[in-house]
Amino acid sequence: MIFMVTIGLEVHVQLMTETKLFCSCSNKFTTIPNTHVCETCLGMPGSKPRLNKKAVEQAIKIGLALNCKINHEMFFSRKSYFYPDMSKNFQITQYEMPICFDGFLELNGRKIRIRRIQMEEDPARLIHEGAIEKAKNVLVDYNRSGTPLCEIVTEPDFTSPQEARLFLQELSLMLEYLGVYDPNTEGSIRVDANISLPKGKRVEVKNVSGFKEVERAFSYEIIRQSSLLKRGQKIVMETRGWNAESGTTISLRSKETEDDYGYIFETDLPTVEVSKKAMELKYGMPEFAKQKVERYEREFRIGREMALSIVSEPDIADAFETAVKEIDTHISATFFSKMLKKVLNYENLRLKQTGLETKWLITIMKKLENKEITDRAAELLLRDMVLKPQDPEILLKLRGLTRIDTEEALDPIVLNVLSKNSLAIIDYKHGKPESLEFLVGQVMRATQGRADPVITRKVIHKRLDE
Ligand SMILES: [Zn+2]
Repeated sequence: MIFMVTIGLEVHVQLMTETKLFCSCSNKFTTIPNTHVCETCLGMPGSKPRLNKKAVEQAIKIGLALNCKINHEMFFSRKSYFYPDMSKNFQITQYEMPICFDGFLELNGRKIRIRRIQMEEDPARLIHEGAIEKAKNVLVDYNRSGTPLCEIVTEPDFTSPQEARLFLQELSLMLEYLGVYDPNTEGSIRVDANISLPKGKRVEVKNVSGFKEVERAFSYEIIRQSSLLKRGQKIVMETRGWNAESGTTISLRSKETEDDYGYIFETDLPTVEVSKKAMELKYGMPEFAKQKVERYEREFRIGREMALSIVSEPDIADAFETAVKEIDTHISATFFSKMLKKVLNYENLRLKQTGLETKWLITIMKKLENKEITDRAAELLLRDMVLKPQDPEILLKLRGLTRIDTEEALDPIVLNVLSKNSLAIIDYKHGKPESLEFLVGQVMRATQGRADPVITRKVIHKRLDE
């Protein structure tokens, strides 16, 4: 039995500003708890918030990128609630008049509607010792308190967990190109979802991080709800949390409505005019992944798959665009989309995290272009370099990975390989072509991939046909 499912998302994005939303404390991540704090972000009586203009600009940029309407002006409201992660007992957020509304993101030709984008402060981080259900103590780290957030609320337009995951991946890449968010910081995107089945009640699954986890959590929740319905049981309207370890959602509380929070106008902050800034920012929007793919296909005549791979990270796209100015287009496109991506994926790293300099990558590509090194040697260099960023010229000398491409140099290596592989020689003499490839492979192995395959084949032929 297939159930039609409806999913709407609330995506919380931590903005990448120097300082917090309402005070001058650093917004940079630190592992030492409660060090980036002041009276404002600790919510002490009498402290006054001051609005971070950079955060407002970033929120406008997000709105523009998501085809939203930008409000002429906006103001903040207090959302009252009592919980240790918000010491002043209210969160400064937007309710009546958010900064942006009515937008969309195109996903495989379908428009996912964006209902609103609002700015708000992140609460402190609560650390439950052990599992949340069993923890005897909870620790509070106020470093996160006051981090600027954009909450992006979609209409219930998703029909599967896979589609929601795809949306988040697209959104994340778009935010990265905008330069407003760091995907490498844990919890920099957190998702709440409203999931409902026909004849069921709306259930909220809160606070899921990681795109794979989103898909897992939503899939679990759909199965849970549909099996309740199948047994003729009722689904209750509630808020549930995701336990990644057990792979299940757990009931947190019965769902409150927005009215329960008793929103009131935040009198400590002025009404802000945003439309003028939006007009300015409109003309400075970056080129996004989709536009880049189209341009690469047109300008560099590279295939869609390659182009998609290059634009999958802004830093790779930047490095590629620098490299093609001096390196053959095909060599650089292959280098970035295949070789570099393969090495980065293997280490589960992004280029940004490695500290690799574009000029080093260009050095490697030049050596490939001049046939000084083989593909295999280039890959070995990269593997070392992503873990320990260094100049490939020095590494090349250290590791002795230069190409062996003269018959004189290859001949003794070939003879040595032939002496150990008499069976392959017999096969070759019996007309089995794969035995030649096997022997080439053995020479590659003996030289750590430094042997030129064409010359190697020639030398083996010569020796075997003697
Ligand atoms: Zn502060």
